[in-house]
Amino acid sequence: MTALTNHDGQHIDTLKAYDQNHVWHHLTPGAAAEKGVSMFVRGEGLRLWDSEGKEYLDATAGGVWVTNVGYGRKEIADAVYQQLIELNYFAGSMASKPAAQFAAKLLQHMPGMSRVYYSSSGSEANEKAFKMVRQISHKHYQGKKHKILYRERDYHGTTLATLGASGQSERRAQFGPFVPDFIEFPHCCEYRNQYSDAENYGLQAAEALEQTILREGPDNVGAVILEPITAGGGIITPPEGYWEKVGEICKRHNILLIMDEVVCGLGRTGQWFGYQHYDIQPDIVTMAKGVASGYAAISCTVTTEKIYTLLQEAPGDTLGYFRDISTFGGCLAGQAAALSNLTIIEREGLVENSAAMGERLLNGFQRLAAKYPIIGDVRGKGLFAGIELVEDRHTKQPVDEAVPIAIAAECKKLGLLIGRTNRSLTGYNNILNFSPALTATVQDIDHIVDLLDQAFENVMQVQG
Ligand code: PLP
Repeated sequence: MTALTNHDGQHIDTLKAYDQNHVWHHLTPGAAAEKGVSMFVRGEGLRLWDSEGKEYLDATAGGVWVTNVGYGRKEIADAVYQQLIELNYFAGSMASKPAAQFAAKLLQHMPGMSRVYYSSSGSEANEKAFKMVRQISHKHYQGKKHKILYRERDYHGTTLATLGASGQSERRAQFGPFVPDFIEFPHCCEYRNQYSDAENYGLQAAEALEQTILREGPDNVGAVILEPITAGGGIITPPEGYWEKVGEICKRHNILLIMDEVVCGLGRTGQWFGYQHYDIQPDIVTMAKGVASGYAAISCTVTTEKIYTLLQEAPGDTLGYFRDISTFGGCLAGQAAALSNLTIIEREGLVENSAAMGERLLNGFQRLAAKYPIIGDVRGKGLFAGIELVEDRHTKQPVDEAVPIAIAAECKKLGLLIGRTNRSLTGYNNILNFSPALTATVQDIDHIVDLLDQAFENVMQVQG
């Protein structure tokens, strides 16, 4: 198909010129953006078309792990339209039909969780979680238990508090000073084992959390926030025994566990939520991207009844309840989109499909690892996978950033969109990532592996 004009009849070149001159693109250096970035104009399932009419297989779910149910879902568009003509907005202090319906349906997939607090981005959902911890600290611990621990390589958002709670050095650089009393603890990437003992890595990595708690003082630590499987920090699947030990440590020190499911939630990893792969019960779960698959901006901070109760009015406490609001947490189109999105995931068995297709994808990548020594590690769960590229499998020296850039560019030439770590971590911009929509078929998965194989071959040939 060709798309030389948009709905207003404007020539695509005019629109591109407007873009190059006036739009400030996210995470893109100006010099690159001014040369022109792709303009995608249509999507269907896992397929995208750009303004030149070229077709792509999107293995990124919209670039940043968003479009879980795929592009072009008329059913969601209709649900949003119906809601908008019925009632578009009223603040979240009042009840609404889609908010009530979505909360009830979502919680069926989250045993032990009880309350849904709406907002409109992943950062905001995490910011709410932090504010809950801080207010609980003031209401119940005389201002103690206010520190929040986060893990090296995890990312929790773009605001100053959430970025300050993110363990990604290049993302943080030049933005400090941050909100005080967010404390980093070591990562749990087994491929980059930072301890001398090769055995029991999961236990050692969890004990590093406990050492941080002991150093800061358990009376000062209110919560720990973690991604169940680290996304932007390099698709880090936790080592054996890690989560169970982390849960036990948090319980023993009376520390709340905040699970950042902004990426992993809603089926991405082959379970409804990433934490459900492990024997662990969080106190707060945040989610955003797959909640409405990008059909609307919506996020949720989901808590246990205990957290909700701790934040209600108490005798003698004149400041009372959780005094927080998100204007667009009351956007009914978002809730309607989320309800429709969830209905699709249930009806089409997309969580199960993510698990099955994810296994096939990892197997395909393992075959590529047998062929290309540059592949140092393959990891992932469900339709959420990463490939770490190294100079040498023994030293594990990361390849230069130019290599993943060349592979991603070659993939794009061949019609496949893939992700990469993109300088969020000093030293580890050597990881390719893959997260196709959860509707991916056997043919889609095989196509992704074949095109990637071709891209590796082409790039390796050029590099000699
Ligand atoms: N948490 C994780 C794990 C993320 O990957 C992201 C964004 O990529 C966020 C939070 C922030 O979400 P948002 O960009 O919607 O604010």
